[in-house]
Amino acid sequence: MDDYLTDNLLGSDDALGGAARAAADAGLPDIAVSAPQGRFLTLLAGMVGARSILEVGTLGGYSAICLARALPPDGTLITLEADPRFADVARGNVDRAGVGDRVDIRVGTALDTLPTLHDDAPFDLVFLDADKANNAAYFRWALELGRPGTVIVVDNVVRSGAIADTASDDPGVRGTQHMFELMATDPRVDATALQTVAGKGYDGFALALVTG
Ligand code: SAM
Repeated sequence: MDDYLTDNLLGSDDALGGAARAAADAGLPDIAVSAPQGRFLTLLAGMVGARSILEVGTLGGYSAICLARALPPDGTLITLEADPRFADVARGNVDRAGVGDRVDIRVGTALDTLPTLHDDAPFDLVFLDADKANNAAYFRWALELGRPGTVIVVDNVVRSGAIADTASDDPGVRGTQHMFELMATDPRVDATALQTVAGKGYDGFALALVTG
C-alpha cells in the first residue's frame, strides 16, 4: 500500500529517492520516515506556515528535506544529530535536494545542543525523532523553545503496540510513556496520537499544539 501511495499519489521524487539511496550506500540504518509520512511533514509545515523548524534526529536528512521544502526562502530548519558521519551524509543530501541554504545541521548530543538554541527560538514546528529514551526531555525542550501556536510532532510513539505495555522496562518505551504523561497533564498543550500502518511497520505520530 505504501508503494501504491508513493507511486500513484506522491509521484516520483528524484531528490528524496537520491537521499534514500545515498543513505543506504553509506550504510545508514533504514529508519527514516516513509515517503507518504515525509509528505505529511511537508504538508503540516506548510499548513502551519512554518518559518522556523527544529528537528531532533537528522539521520541522512530525509525528513529534513521534507520539512525544509515547506519553508519560505528565508526560513530555517535546525536539525540535531549525534553522529557526525550521519550528519555528513545529510549535508550532501540536503544540498543536492536544493534546500541546503535553509538547513542548519548541528552535530552533537541533542541534550547538549538544545540549551544553546534560545537565540534561535521560538520554533513554529518541532519534530522529535531521535533516541526515544529522551522523548520526555525533548518534549520539555520543545515547550521551552516554542510559543503558543507551536506544533510538536513526535515519531514512533506506537512501536507495534509496545508503548501500551505499562510493565515494559525498555528505555525507549518508558521515555515515550513519560512524554505522553507530560502531554496529557501539561495545561499548555492539546495533544493526540495517530496510529499508522506503513511499509516500515505499525507505528504512529503524536501531535501536540502549544496553546498557552
Ligand atoms: N528524522 C530522520 C528521518 O526521518 O529522516 C530519522 C531519524 S533516526 C530515526 C534517529 C536519529 O537520531 C539517528 O540518526 C541517530 O543517530 C540520532 N540520535 C540518536 N540519539 C541522539 C542524540 N542523543 N542526540 C542527537 N541525535 C541522536
